[in-house]
Parts: sequence; structure tokens; C-alpha cells
Amino acid sequence: MKDLLTQIANINSYSYNVEGLSKVKELLKSWYQNFENNCPKLKLKYEEFDLKPQKFISRSGQIEEKQLGKALLISKEIDPNLPSILLMGHMDTVFPESLGFNECKDLGNGIMNGPGVSDLKGGLVVILKALEKFENSELADKLNWQVFFNPDEEVGSPGSSKIFPMLAEKNKWGLIYEPSLPDGSFTYRRKGAANYQLAIHGKASHVGRAFDEGTSAILIAAEFINQAQALNENPNIIINFGKIEGGGPLNIVPELAILGINIRIEENTDEKLVLKKLNQIIDELQDKYSDAKFLLQGKFNRKPKVPNTELDLLYEVLEDCTKELNLDFKKRNTGGCCDGNNLWEYGLPNIDTLGVRGKDIHSTEEIIYLDSLEERTELSFLLLKRLALL
Ligand SMILES: [Zn+2]
Repeated sequence: MKDLLTQIANINSYSYNVEGLSKVKELLKSWYQNFENNCPKLKLKYEEFDLKPQKFISRSGQIEEKQLGKALLISKEIDPNLPSILLMGHMDTVFPESLGFNECKDLGNGIMNGPGVSDLKGGLVVILKALEKFENSELADKLNWQVFFNPDEEVGSPGSSKIFPMLAEKNKWGLIYEPSLPDGSFTYRRKGAANYQLAIHGKASHVGRAFDEGTSAILIAAEFINQAQALNENPNIIINFGKIEGGGPLNIVPELAILGINIRIEENTDEKLVLKKLNQIIDELQDKYSDAKFLLQGKFNRKPKVPNTELDLLYEVLEDCTKELNLDFKKRNTGGCCDGNNLWEYGLPNIDTLGVRGKDIHSTEEIIYLDSLEERTELSFLLLKRLALL
């Protein structure tokens, strides 16, 4: 398993590295073809999906597009009347090739450092191995399954989330292989999230000669931030201004400012509240600065994951399985989001931290505890068997 992980983690698959993502997709396909060849009764169907490019506001303040990789869906359907289970993991990482963090390094003591070893390439290996065990078990003929690999999770699944309704419709349960917390805890309730960009176009003028004729986009941006940050007074809402770009020569009143905004919410109803407030502030600023232009781009691409009895049933099964393996069962709420949020939005009960144990994800210090590859494979195998009989 460590070799498979090294093989797949050593391919750079940053969310916008379309070529690298294609290599990872081909490697996964070859793993499943191998699996199929070694499992005489198994018949798999392979489908690929082109995704729409991601829209964003470029440094010039205009809407542009970024190309995304392809998604891969592998399905086993022996009988349409049997329940189907979705296993899912993303192929992309947060590391551009230019960062130079492109290879795994064994640190000894059962620890390996490398790009995406925990998030989420370790999980990709676990999915394969758990399915191999399941298909060689006496319950293989009790379950259909689908495996979905998307190339854009780390940027909010802007393209692949269009396929989620179809996956939620087809499957009864979802198993998602985001890394678990370092102590093996599973996440439970999740906040919802949005990324927005606000481009503010003002009017340039020379500071010395015509200061009064200019409209400073940066000053307007500052006013916007000052007012919008009041949303943080609501305990259900977090708004963070993570990026600000714009301006230019210091003797020119700045014509352009672009804000990057991340928002987290507790309940679905908070979404309306936030958008209403942001648009209200924009309207007021528009009244005050008539020659300014505002362009707000983005969406709530992760709805909150609020548990109910259907979801709790799945967690009960998981708890039983961890006990059988003598593992601790802990679940925790988090402000973080993943594809589990979206699938839940479309009605698919899912556990979304079935991947490996590791830490320092999204940094060059990312590690995996290698023993968790085996541990999590056993857990998923057991979970599949239980769900097959449910
Ligand atoms: Zn991830």
C-alpha cells in the first residue's frame, strides 16, 4: 500500500494542473483494470466527465475561466435492485508543481511526508484495497458500488458538484475518504462555506493634479470590509477577508480593488442573511460613489451538513465497526467543509472522514501515519459488509 501511495502521490495533481490530474486518473483506471482482471466475476464500467471551467475575477477585474481536469466514475452493478454505495475521493492537491513539494519522503517510525499523502491520496489507496477485500468476500454479490474521483475538490468542486445529484440519486450511502483527524476522530456536523470575490472599479486620477476627480477603489474596499465584518457578530456566521489586490503607482488614485472573501455558516438560512447584507452594503456604496462599479462573483458551494436520524444511523454502524476493530470511536463537529456537505445537500447520508490518519495537511509538512492505511482498509471493508446486510 505504501508503494501504491508513493506512486500516486509523486504525480503532481494540483487542482489546476490538468495534465497531472489526467495522469492520476489514468493510474487509477489502471489500478481498477488490474483489480478487475484479478477478480473473475467483477465487471466494471468506466465513465469520464468533462467539467465546465471555473469562473473567477482576474487581476484585471474581469471574469475569466480556469480549466479543470476530468472526473472518473467506476461502477459495479450486478443487479439494479441491490443497494449501491458510493465511495469517493478527490484526485487534486493544493500544491502547485512550482512549490517544489513533489515527492514522498519516508521519515522513519512509520511516518511518510509527501504532497497529498493524507489529503487525499492515502484514501485513494484505502478505497481500492477495501473494495478488493470486499469483492473477494462472501458478500460480494450483495452490493453494487460506484467510485467517484473528482479533480476539483480543493477549489470547492465548482465543476464536479454538477455530477453530485446523479451520484446521490443512484446510491444509498456515501463513504468519503478525506483524512480523519490525527487522533482518528470522524467529523460529524460541518459548517457550510462560500468563496466570493468582489471587484470594485473606481476612477483613476493624478494625486497631485486632480485628486478630487478620482474615486479610490481601495477606500471603497475599506468601507466595504468595515461594514461587512459586522456579520461576525452573529455566532452562526464567519466572514474572512483573506485577500486584497489592486492599486498601482502611489501617485495615482487607485482604479481597481479586488477582495477575496471566505464565509462559513451554521444553518442553511444563514446564506440568505449573508447575501442580503453584502448586497445591501454594495447598494449603499453604489449610491455614495455613483461612478464606481461593483462585481460580486462566487457562491455558497458547500451547504451546512446538519445531522438527522438517517445520518445518525450510518454513524451507529460506523461506531459498531470501530468497536469490533478495537479502535476508539470519536466524532467531532468542524467548521471545515468537503464534498460530504454537497452530497448531504442532495440527500445522500455520508461519512466523509474515512481516509487515513495524518496531520499538517495543506502544508509541506503533511504526513501520513502509515499504519492507518491497513487500519482504515479493515474499517471500510467491515463497513461495506455491514451496509451490504443492512
Ligand atoms: Zn481533501
